[in-house]
Amino acid sequence: MISVEQALEKVLSYFHELDAEDVRLLHALGRVLAEDVYSDIDIPPMDNAAMDGYALQAQSTVGASRSSPRVLRVTGQAAAGHATTRQVVAGAAIRIMTGAPVPKGADSVVRFEDTDEDTRKSRGQPLTEIGIVCQAEPGLNIRRAGEDIARGSLVLKKGTALRPQEIGVLASLGRKAAAVVRRPVVAILATGDELVELGKPLPSGKIYSSNTYSLAAQVVRYGGIPKILGIARDNVRSLETKIGQAADADLLITSAGVSVGDYDIVKDVLARQGEISFWTVRMKPGKPLAFGLLRVGNRTIPHLGLPGNPVSSMITFEQFARPAILKMLGRKNLDKPCVRARSESEIKNTDGRRIFARVRVSRQNGQYQARLVGPQGSGVLMSMAQANGLMIVPEAVSSVRAGDEVVVQMLDWDEEM
Ligand code: AMP
Ligand code: MG
Repeated sequence: MISVEQALEKVLSYFHELDAEDVRLLHALGRVLAEDVYSDIDIPPMDNAAMDGYALQAQSTVGASRSSPRVLRVTGQAAAGHATTRQVVAGAAIRIMTGAPVPKGADSVVRFEDTDEDTRKSRGQPLTEIGIVCQAEPGLNIRRAGEDIARGSLVLKKGTALRPQEIGVLASLGRKAAAVVRRPVVAILATGDELVELGKPLPSGKIYSSNTYSLAAQVVRYGGIPKILGIARDNVRSLETKIGQAADADLLITSAGVSVGDYDIVKDVLARQGEISFWTVRMKPGKPLAFGLLRVGNRTIPHLGLPGNPVSSMITFEQFARPAILKMLGRKNLDKPCVRARSESEIKNTDGRRIFARVRVSRQNGQYQARLVGPQGSGVLMSMAQANGLMIVPEAVSSVRAGDEVVVQMLDWDEEM
């Protein structure tokens, strides 16, 4: 038996960051930047007003106060989006709106609140003159060209995971596209004579292939592109044909056929087509896992063989396939978010494996509490549906009692918890 860490290290050693592709800006969300991005413009592009007010020369306001305003001639208006040709001279001001370019000659903007504009308006006086009631310093309420981003500067580094704010930064540079790491294509193949495709009637003794869809959904959630290969039957021909369809994938995930019962067919096929190891991993659920390289056509593809039980396949996906996908996507942090919580349930660990127990985490008085959700059988997919986390019971811990502090790997990390 090998540990979860040993298995993960071995799996990850087969994966590397994929090549880059250019995508339209919005498609870059959640992706990893594959280029250093420099700005070829200043942002803001010109000095502009940070407040609505009056653009003027600070020297025209020397000595101004509420009791002794400096009265200036108003020689024009400047609105955002429009360049003013008018110049500001000593003793004059231009009425200016936030974001409007600062007119030539002006070195500061005095906001409306520091003028007598309201008083003049309430008296019905025209705004041909304005009283300034405070003394301005040069630069007051002016956003300088290049203050946010200077032309020629490195704005976003290669390797940055793009969130909405980085998408906004790229848009502010006028970029319609970005070079990002390509998304891996992950082929998904279910195996088993008992499996039925969705949309078909369900004969007795058969089940729908739920793994196909839970695994494909996990691939999507973590940024890959699923390629559903359907169902291979428990015979050599069927398996070989289906595996042949994975030729363009970056990873092939199969479910079932790796436990002792049906080891042999899958093992034969895999042995013929590549170098696959069959591991027993010290974890529960999980345990049987196949991993290695398969020759498909003229390509060699990493293959991860997950156990067939619906809970086991999802949990082994989280532990091994998710980090592999994230690594291919160029992500640096491959760990799942964990929280420390107080267990409200009791769990026995009888055979020294690492247990991933399905729990519901909630927050009470600022502390996380984790409670087991119903039956924990590795075939009980509803336990995954009810859970938002996996409580980790370490190999060396023989029991968790109510009140013990535990680590929970979060399946979801949303605000509703
Ligand atoms: P196996 O690994 O083939 O022994 O399968 C273990 C259990 O998982 C059996 O009960 C299978 O019926 C079930 N199983 C295998 N593949 C799937 C699948 N694609 N969807 C749902 N259950 C499955
Ligand atoms: Mg089977």
